[in-house]
Amino acid sequence: MIRSVLLFLLIALLAAAVVWMAERPGELLLTWQGYRIEMPLVLAVALMAAAVAAIVFVWRSVNWLMHGPALFNAARAHRRLADGQLALSQGMVAVAAGDRQAALRFARKAETLLGDGPLTMLLSAQAAQLSGDDTAAHRYFAAMLERPEMEFLGLRGLLTEAEREGKPDEALNLARRAFLLNPDAPWLLSTLFTLEAKAGNWREAERVTERALKNKLLPEAESRRRLAIARFEQAEDAKSLGDLNAALKLAESAHALDLGFGPAALLAAEILHVQGNRRRAARVVEDAWGRLPHPDLAAEYRLIFSGEDAGALRRRIERLAALAPDDPESRLALAAAAVESRDFGLARLQLQPLLASQPDARVLRAMAALEEAEHGAVAAESWVARIARAPEGPVWGCQVCGRAHPAWQPHCDECESFDSLRWTTPAGALLALDGIAATAPVGDAVAGAERPGALISPVFPRSDTGSGPR
Ligand SMILES: [Zn+2]
Repeated sequence: MIRSVLLFLLIALLAAAVVWMAERPGELLLTWQGYRIEMPLVLAVALMAAAVAAIVFVWRSVNWLMHGPALFNAARAHRRLADGQLALSQGMVAVAAGDRQAALRFARKAETLLGDGPLTMLLSAQAAQLSGDDTAAHRYFAAMLERPEMEFLGLRGLLTEAEREGKPDEALNLARRAFLLNPDAPWLLSTLFTLEAKAGNWREAERVTERALKNKLLPEAESRRRLAIARFEQAEDAKSLGDLNAALKLAESAHALDLGFGPAALLAAEILHVQGNRRRAARVVEDAWGRLPHPDLAAEYRLIFSGEDAGALRRRIERLAALAPDDPESRLALAAAAVESRDFGLARLQLQPLLASQPDARVLRAMAALEEAEHGAVAAESWVARIARAPEGPVWGCQVCGRAHPAWQPHCDECESFDSLRWTTPAGALLALDGIAATAPVGDAVAGAERPGALISPVFPRSDTGSGPR
């Protein structure tokens, strides 16, 4: 708008100037080297204006000829970049969608248009992986190691490959190298912990998890659990080397990190008891019992107070059971102590709810013991007859593959999953009223019967666990 107004004013001004000059006629006379040029003033002014316009036109033409091709090339490069980036995005989408043909096509296009930049190399590697060309993928990832800005990415690719191909040593070396480059990547902390743990390098696994916990790089509960297991495993090693003080320190630290981690509590209590510190040993068991009762903990508790008479022991067990009043382990431990102190009413009171809800072999043994103590061996016979057909009760079952284990351990023997064992009632146990034997695998644990995090060893690991006669 302003431009049009200005143009209009300019034209008006020119017209006014022409009219003004026409009204005031004059002549221009030029004499030079014997030439004599004579012309009206208006014509002279018009010729000068034409000359200025010609000079401007020539100047502009020369300028375009000098810089035009560069501008053209820049425009072309800009278009290539835009096309390359589009191919890159389309390739990434194709990878995410699992479209291997399109992924390969766009990867090639991006490579042609953009060269081997970080993202292009990544796309090419992923496209190669997607199409099952492991050799090409490996080549791309290995090439990334040569470039500092891509080394971490390359290590991740090679690490994933090594894990998939079942090469734990190679994977561990790659993960350690990646850890030196970027020790705060959560996926790496998790992977490195898994690899160190699998290799039994519990000190290294502990260090990795300490970093994760300190910098809040993984969920806190997960880090604490892993740290507890790494320290517990080191405690076991120290104990087997005879260094009870180191073992106790590690086991107590593991117990403090995860009060529900029974194996650590049990080990700490055992060592404290051996060292004559009964009060502390009992407190560790009580802490753990309040979280997740387990027959091994009850057995240790009885050992700690084994010098006391049956009545005193029953009162101790009563206080322990009160920390988890409705838990079957509490009822079984208390029932056994009650039978020993000949308080048959209390024993029956504890066992009745279990007979109704989960009449497994342990409960039937406890009933047989109660009947035998109260009414003699003949009275116990009917219970004894039912034991063989009843399911055994909770086991250390792998939550991934279902394999049962005689004791808690950090990895499943079958599927090698880490920390997958839980003190679990196998499927069928709750249905096994009177002789319907459990046949289902542990993995099909009945919902609600599982008690995650309950830990420790075999179903009946010791002879005197308060769970009735063998
Ligand atoms: Zn398993």
